[in-house]
Amino acid sequence: MTDSETPAAEIPARLAGVAARVARAATDVGRAPGSVALVAVSKTHDAEIIAPALEAGHRVFGENRVQESKAKWPALRARFPDVELHLIGPLQSNKAREAVELFDVIETVDRPKIAEALAAEIARAGKPVRLFVEVNTGAEPQKAGILPAEADGFVRHCREALGLDVAGLMCIPPADEQASPHFALLAKIAARNGLPGLSMGMSSDFELGIQLGATHVRVGTAIFGARPPLRP
Ligand SMILES: *Cc1c(COP(=O)(O)O)cnc(C)c1O
Repeated sequence: MTDSETPAAEIPARLAGVAARVARAATDVGRAPGSVALVAVSKTHDAEIIAPALEAGHRVFGENRVQESKAKWPALRARFPDVELHLIGPLQSNKAREAVELFDVIETVDRPKIAEALAAEIARAGKPVRLFVEVNTGAEPQKAGILPAEADGFVRHCREALGLDVAGLMCIPPADEQASPHFALLAKIAARNGLPGLSMGMSSDFELGIQLGATHVRVGTAIFGARPPLRP
């Protein structure tokens, strides 16, 4: 543990605080408090920081790297078999098999090659992995995600040509812009494609995401504290 990391003993209270804010944001807009899933983003944090959240009863977690998840989660899952693990980071097609083995939900389906690789691995494993299509709502050149104008066609391709069960859409708005137009755009694309799931909102803006219809919010820092600096 680095000096800047939140002590493990504080995690349950921080988690409970965020869960209460999620429920409150839902009821504030007339939604059921349980209608929003809190994905606790545990990327970069060690098992000793994650375990208190599991012991407190939380089961839905997000990770952004296949290799890191492979190192951390099998042992945690052995203790807590009903964990629901979400992949929220970019996926390469040569990692599709491992991703299908490790994750219950993959939120970053963003191009035909990945969709095809996942379809093959899901069929092979016979495991019902739920998929979200990531949309690059800000059309940022360096960012992952299908462009908004291509989203309808891509969702159709996933469903009709590949037989994939697309659960919803996910977005990461540009860091330097208001998130609300991006969340509203994501909700609009989901609605016209009949997609129920909307993964939008992080530590700084999850309440806004919930106001605009999020069914999943991905919250890391507000629960686990600052992330340790990236190892080279
Ligand atoms: C890291 C990450 C989050 C969590 O971000 P916080 O600001 O720490 O809540 C959410 N979504 C994605 C895709 C991430 O990579």
